[in-house]
Amino acid sequence: LSDKLQNIFKNLRSKGRLTEADVKASLKEVKMALLEADVSFKVVKQFMKAVQERAVGQDVLNGLNPGQMVIKIVNEEMVNLMGAETTEIALQPAGEITVLMMMGLQGAGKTTTTAKIAGKLKSKGRKPLLVACDIYRPAAIQQLQINGDKQGVEVFSMGDKNKPVNIAKAAIEHASKNGHNVVILDTAGRLHVDEDMMNELIEIKENVTVNQSLLVVDAMTGQDAVNVASMFDEKIGIDGVILTKLDGDTRGGAALSIRAVTGKPILYIGMGEKLSDLEQFYPDRMASRILGMGDVLTLIEKVQNDIDEDKAREMERKLRKAEFGFDDYLEQMQQIKKMGGLSDLLGMIPGMGAQMKNIDEVVDDKAMSRVEAMILSMTPQERSNPSVLNPSRKKRIADGAGVNISEVNRLVKQFEQGKKMMKQLPGMMGGKMGGKRGK
Ligand code: GDP
Ligand code: MG
Repeated sequence: LSDKLQNIFKNLRSKGRLTEADVKASLKEVKMALLEADVSFKVVKQFMKAVQERAVGQDVLNGLNPGQMVIKIVNEEMVNLMGAETTEIALQPAGEITVLMMMGLQGAGKTTTTAKIAGKLKSKGRKPLLVACDIYRPAAIQQLQINGDKQGVEVFSMGDKNKPVNIAKAAIEHASKNGHNVVILDTAGRLHVDEDMMNELIEIKENVTVNQSLLVVDAMTGQDAVNVASMFDEKIGIDGVILTKLDGDTRGGAALSIRAVTGKPILYIGMGEKLSDLEQFYPDRMASRILGMGDVLTLIEKVQNDIDEDKAREMERKLRKAEFGFDDYLEQMQQIKKMGGLSDLLGMIPGMGAQMKNIDEVVDDKAMSRVEAMILSMTPQERSNPSVLNPSRKKRIADGAGVNISEVNRLVKQFEQGKKMMKQLPGMMGGKMGGKRGK
């Protein structure tokens, strides 16, 4: 498939903007790739439409051909769709008990994942209690016991004669008496979604406080996974998903489908049978795995980095030659905003904290649009050479932007500060921090 793609790309002439024909040609291949990766058909269709709309008319980055540009957009949209960043399990404060209910079909990996998560939480200083609520599968209790022992985590069970809801209640009582602050309910699955299983889960949820209902899904079930997820979400409500068996050769399309259909975050991925084989879910890595176009993505990343570096170099040159003006300042602010929460980061650099303590305030949305208004009220000369800004010019700018003159003064001060800061951090502001992908 990859070869085929490369050929298609070669045949597309490089041009300034993506035409509808460019986009259609490349999306045909993307569609095949997604279906091969087991993304659900419905999700593929919706996704194609969204990408098509976004892509047509976009500028093609220097160094990419139209086909590659489309892949770049597809990849970005996939990452966005899958949540853009990692999500952690939401836990109550350590002084309270967090109840996690694991659910899913038989064989999905609930019992294994229960023990895996317990290990993660234990290493974070929590004290988990595993609860054997699967009273149907003959060896289920013993399996949980063995896994709990391996993790050094206590397992609570009441044999197979009690109802799961009563086991859960008793377990939570046991937990609060013995200082456990996380209770993980390992419930029973079935081969298919059926009413008994759903009713059992509903009964637990109605009678004990479940803080997080976590669905465990076997990634190898492909197209089916999304149906399972939407049924569980409708009937029980899910807060997060764990996708197991991604150590196999499945491309993991289920991740995209489940997120698209339920909107619920994927928290972890299972990468093997060992209890340490549980990894954080990274949307960018998953997008690249699902697309299966590693070569193209590597090229795109390289081009992006080159562009960022060019920009950074240009910025540095301007700073050195004192050409750095308000237009550049505005661009920098917008970049900082994209990166988010910069004050925390800068606070860690000695001598930076105090200087930049109000940076987040400067780049919040409302403040940004005022800054923009002020800069747009400046003449090109004022923008490139702020030293000409005398009181009467400042007054005119303030009136033009509809702000108080003191705000203009503050902007000029912040500009000077920013300029100083950027001189101290050569290369850092030019986007090297953006555009990176995990691998
Ligand atoms: P449950 O019925 O949902 O409780 O599923 P189990 O936890 O008993 O797991 C079913 C089988 O899948 C077991 O043989 C596990 O070792 C295996 N398994 C679970 N998670 C993973 C995973 O991430 N990768 C692989 N390769 N096997 C897994
Ligand atoms: Mg089990």
